[in-house]
Amino acid sequence: MTIIGIVGGGQLGRMLALAAYPLGARVAFLDPAPDAPMSYLAQQITGAYDDELALDMLAQVSDVVTYEFENVPVTSAERIAQHVRVYPPPAALGVSQDRVEEKSFFRALEIPTPQFVEIDSLWDLEAGVAQLGLPAVLKTRRLCYDGKGQFVLRRPDQLENAFRALPNTRLILEPFVLFDRELSILAVRGADGDSACYPLVENHHREGILRKSIAPAPDIAPQLQDLAQDYVRRVLDALGYVGVLAIELFQVRDQLLANEIAPRVHNSGHWTIEGAATSQFENHARAILGLPLGSADARFHSVMLNFIGALPDTSALLQIPDARLHLYDKAPRAGRKLGHVTLVANDAQTLLERADRAARIISLEHTTFSR
Ligand code: AMP
Repeated sequence: MTIIGIVGGGQLGRMLALAAYPLGARVAFLDPAPDAPMSYLAQQITGAYDDELALDMLAQVSDVVTYEFENVPVTSAERIAQHVRVYPPPAALGVSQDRVEEKSFFRALEIPTPQFVEIDSLWDLEAGVAQLGLPAVLKTRRLCYDGKGQFVLRRPDQLENAFRALPNTRLILEPFVLFDRELSILAVRGADGDSACYPLVENHHREGILRKSIAPAPDIAPQLQDLAQDYVRRVLDALGYVGVLAIELFQVRDQLLANEIAPRVHNSGHWTIEGAATSQFENHARAILGLPLGSADARFHSVMLNFIGALPDTSALLQIPDARLHLYDKAPRAGRKLGHVTLVANDAQTLLERADRAARIISLEHTTFSR
């Protein structure tokens, strides 16, 4: 029996395990929290992500190791890779952990990305704002996600406070992009270089947290899908990537600007469990196990709605035809992703009705589906 080791025991690892079992694999994982969402599902090694003993134990029990979040220390991934295959390659972590490196990587691959300036001092910030203009977004380079560690700067008198409020001084400044919408492209690549791309997904955030994904994204010209696939394949090939990867994009008219890489399965791909021929989780498992990849085509129109901070009336949601519930076994806390529901339908109009009904039950007015 092949054992997949996962660094991290959150909901992404949980859904990955659920997809890996039917393929004949077992799962072990490393997480510091004894009550991680994967706890009841797989063999746990409890330890910090830089605990050498725990990392060695994971390497020892696993045939292949993967990770379910991108802030795994690169040195930890490299340590495991001395003993056992690690997919995606640890180099992908390095690129995604630092926004300056990430954007430089996009530039090197000639993938359009927002302009940026490295900021290490208040003086740099003033010079950066003079160069890029306002409004602009000031972000930490490392270790922040879900919109944390960012400030939108609108007036010159905000610079000093924003600079001092951020948790460290290695920052990046970007122009505030007036995008038409946010999209993501997910793709999977096998060790033999074979790859498959999912259709573009439309994403809606609030307070920097993903609330809703619509897949396939409505009104996508075939050229835009082709462009996204070209970009994601450049990234996959450049990294010699194995597994699923997501790129978050800003659509500005018929252009795509790459904002971020997630070298892992991604929240905006949860719809694939019900809505695609092969889910992102199954395809990630197939890729890292060296199995043939499955089709990434959409089977239905899908909407995914996240439960953030509190759970809705789940039995009311289940009364909606073809609603599929996913709870992550996490204690409620403000801003925390506790679960999601996916609505699917054969046509866009039926989907819209189902999604509106679900949004009312989740009682988050901002998730109202009508666009
Ligand atoms: P990030 O942590 O870079 O994914 O940013 C979180 C969210 O902030 C994104 O999904 C966008 O909604 C918004 N955002 C980030 N960067 C920019 C930007 N340069 N211009 C406009 N909005 C941005």
